[in-house]
Amino acid sequence: MDRSKLDDLIKNFFTCDKREITQIFDELLSAMMAEEMLPPGTVMSRNYETAQANPEIHTLPGNLKDARDAIFPFFWGTDGWYSKLHLENVKGPANYASLVGAMACLLKNPNLCVDTYSQRSNELEVKAITALANLVFYHTDSPWGVFTMGGTVSNLYGGKIGIEKVMPGAMRNGLGGQALAGIVSEAAHYSNATLAGWLGMGTRNLHCIPTDRTIAMRLDLLAEKLDQLYSVGTRVAFVIATFGSTDASGIDNLAGVRDIIEQKAAQHGQPVPQLHVDAAVGWALCFLSEYHLEANPFGLSDETLPLITRAQEHTRGLKHADSVTIDFHKMGWGHYPASALIVNRRADLEHLFRPKEQMPYFSEADYRRDPALFTLECSRPAIGPYSVMASLNGLGLVGCQMLVANALGMAQTLKRRIDDLPNCKVLNRETIGPSVVWWVLPKGRNAKEIFDQIESGQMPEGTWQHYFSEIQRLFAKREETLNPAVDARLSFTSSMGYRPGGIDLPAWKAVFFNPKTDHAVIDQIIASIEELL
Ligand SMILES: *Cc1c(COP(=O)(O)O)cnc(C)c1O
Repeated sequence: MDRSKLDDLIKNFFTCDKREITQIFDELLSAMMAEEMLPPGTVMSRNYETAQANPEIHTLPGNLKDARDAIFPFFWGTDGWYSKLHLENVKGPANYASLVGAMACLLKNPNLCVDTYSQRSNELEVKAITALANLVFYHTDSPWGVFTMGGTVSNLYGGKIGIEKVMPGAMRNGLGGQALAGIVSEAAHYSNATLAGWLGMGTRNLHCIPTDRTIAMRLDLLAEKLDQLYSVGTRVAFVIATFGSTDASGIDNLAGVRDIIEQKAAQHGQPVPQLHVDAAVGWALCFLSEYHLEANPFGLSDETLPLITRAQEHTRGLKHADSVTIDFHKMGWGHYPASALIVNRRADLEHLFRPKEQMPYFSEADYRRDPALFTLECSRPAIGPYSVMASLNGLGLVGCQMLVANALGMAQTLKRRIDDLPNCKVLNRETIGPSVVWWVLPKGRNAKEIFDQIESGQMPEGTWQHYFSEIQRLFAKREETLNPAVDARLSFTSSMGYRPGGIDLPAWKAVFFNPKTDHAVIDQIIASIEELL
């Protein structure tokens, strides 16, 4: 070994050169700010054609600038979603307090698997989980949880706890042919199908209950489904309720679901299914739990204030949950990955405990503080806890309240403006959340009447199919003709979560995540719809 070459390598890559690193960081920040002057999503086109053909790796050691150059075109060609025109989906710009937290985390690179690999970062996770649990459950004696790589995995934990509850020992013995089912609503996120498949239950054993017009699970049909499953000897491992559906912000009635699962399980002599709540998006309403409605310190309008009242009613339902999924990388404006799985009662996580013989590497681990003894992952990043604690304490509770109230108010304004157009119909007028889903039909059509006829089952299939193709065609037309410098980017869903008579309703979609999105953007959306026709 040429010692001097090894020393060079150590000097360049394992020794902190503050000047070199801050210079490169400064350059990346400058590039990002330059990009923000341009319309969103247009910076540099993809080159998938040869991405696999030339997977080059430099031969000789370089320096940090080589590292920079290797990723720069891809960095430059990636949209940070900071533009106020991004309204496509539940993705927002990450906030800079989260960046401070995430950067600090990357500098130390803790591994949250066990305390000895992460010390006070492990402690920070406990703090972050408890802070979020207090927000969500309001009063809870023994919350616990972990950060995961996303809402999908947090939901998977909820489902797995349910399986272990109704089939103790499944972790060791497998499912052994026992018929097992899970229940969600038709507006639930597809990640629930993912977990049903991955946990060995089978996606066809995930039952989807139709929703009502508020995009909440129909409780009468939930009760019916439970009777049906129990009467043929199927065990029901979990009900995963949705608290804020991805497209339309629908919220299930958690107190109602709780009553029904308790009652039906007792009636059939079965263990009560896990009530996991997928609040990946909707949890942020919890910031508003303590907003003082009479004092109205933000001076919220008569249009927005009633939304806060209803948000408070919904969040009170969360105390009925056994476990909850929270995506801080969504309405926490945090960096990926920052999702938390939180249980209301600590003992529920014991269902996931693994015997220490299976993990000789962690022979000294302690069940009271070493997550690797029950997590799905082994190595686990700490971005989540750092992002959460930096963001919450940077923005403060009041700052978070302002962001969420603003998102709700903006969505409400767009709903009203769209519903004023006779050829348009908002499909989620009754929900509260950052999203708006709606129809645009050609001028001259009465969108509300068409909706009523579909909902009441009076319209022949050929007719509604024709209308649906018009809705999609007009969306495509707007996409083709929009001016990227002023027109908001919207998205299209093929089924917004409410399915009257089993019919999937397509819709245009806008989600108000970015606090920079202002009323001028809404004015322009309305203008672009009117120009289409
Ligand atoms: C986004 C989302 C998920 C999945 O979360 P990821 O973090 O993307 O894995 C689950 N449920 C709902 C309701 C979501 O909106």
